[in-house]
Amino acid sequence: MPEIPKSFHMSPEDFRANADQVLEWITAYQKRVEALPVMSQVKPGEIRAKFPTSAPQKGEPFADVLRDLDAKIMPGITHWQSPNFYAYFPSNNSNASILGDLLSSGIGVQGMLWATSPACTELETVVLDWLVEMLGLPSSFLTTGKGGGVIQDTASSATLSALLAARERATSGGSNEEGCDRSLTCYTSSHAHSSLEKNVKIAGLGRKNLRLIEADENFAMRPDALRRAIEADLAAGKKPFFVMATVGTTSSNALDPLSAIGTICREFGLWFHVDSAMAGTATLCPEFRYIQQGVELADSYVFNPHKWMFTNFDCSVFYVADRTALINAFSIMPEYLRNQGTATGEVFDYRDWHVQLGRRFRSLKLWAVIRHYGVEGLQHHIRRHVELAQQFLAWVKADSRFEVMAPAPLNLVCFRLKGDDAANEALMNRLNQSGKIYLTHTKLNGKFTLRMCIGQSQTEERHVRTAWELISRG
Ligand code: PLP
Repeated sequence: MPEIPKSFHMSPEDFRANADQVLEWITAYQKRVEALPVMSQVKPGEIRAKFPTSAPQKGEPFADVLRDLDAKIMPGITHWQSPNFYAYFPSNNSNASILGDLLSSGIGVQGMLWATSPACTELETVVLDWLVEMLGLPSSFLTTGKGGGVIQDTASSATLSALLAARERATSGGSNEEGCDRSLTCYTSSHAHSSLEKNVKIAGLGRKNLRLIEADENFAMRPDALRRAIEADLAAGKKPFFVMATVGTTSSNALDPLSAIGTICREFGLWFHVDSAMAGTATLCPEFRYIQQGVELADSYVFNPHKWMFTNFDCSVFYVADRTALINAFSIMPEYLRNQGTATGEVFDYRDWHVQLGRRFRSLKLWAVIRHYGVEGLQHHIRRHVELAQQFLAWVKADSRFEVMAPAPLNLVCFRLKGDDAANEALMNRLNQSGKIYLTHTKLNGKFTLRMCIGQSQTEERHVRTAWELISRG
């Protein structure tokens, strides 16, 4: 009989040696990423076909894993951290965040309850309270009062939480016991992110009960149209309960007027949720805080450090002005989760603030980012991105073959070649297939529009200049 080893675990010595290799790999990747084709050029199924259909029976050296990473996986990577990445909204990162994330993996905490690691809960509370001040958000979001923040995986999940908390408040908990009231209606702009529509499906509210409110010429929600829709629903015996406004829509970075919308919400007693997924990060800089004027009227708010705040995916920050409805919507107490910490009533159990039970120690990377950059460092890089986008905007405006399709208050420029959609789509495909830059599109006023979003950590003026040279060459 062959001898069976006592343990198959990686020894501390091997871990150390492999970790050195991994860090070396990441550092080398960061140096070469600029030269790699930004958008992966593989065909569907090409990566999968390189792998065996069954898992290995015998363990393999980690060096073989790294070798296959290079040979089989990297060709199928779209390089989100390339300085030439301008697609969608960014998902930038930083070395401080990578290290924080590594520490979180190393400590391996599952922080569902305060009791399962008090520091995991309490650091999250500290960092999210810091962010309220850093972003100029209302003090109602602080945990020192009735509100508070929690880290979620994504803005989609945070908005689902807002929707469920709003329903909880509107039905005084009735939806928990009786199921969903089909007369509840909710409202957002026709330019809002599709995650609300998805959440309405998930929550069982019925897509028929979601009103997509008309936008104005700048693609921002029209408060007068919102009021008319609410009044029409009330007249028809419906129960309006939730409004979502967006600060920086995905298509064009449009800014819904929060003050006017929030005032309507107060008048009709509706929950007011603000989705500031990417643009929220800009409010680190006082000069950009005008974009969220009226946020003090919000019942809840979300922004994603994993988009523009140098914190690697995933990390979405969600605030409520009053945590009661949120916790009532989510809390459930099986015997096996009872513990002395919860029983004191003096702790937060963040499992009661969102859908999932188990949770990672995400605040560690956010804390690492804030401590590394400081507020000033973060402001510096955000300002730089906005300056670069404004420079790009100036180049587009100065070229009579192109037209600008939407206001560009921050780091997104929406533009197109004057001409038909086919020419614009062909231009985008040519650029993306060249591998030199990557950008994506939307439709504005029915026209195919290119989106240039500047937010990668390593993007400098020379990259943006090259991008414009490539674009303007046609
Ligand atoms: N809201 C807005 C305005 C967005 O732009 C996005 C994604 O780009 C989302 C929500 C969804 O973000 P997440 O991937 O965190 O769910």
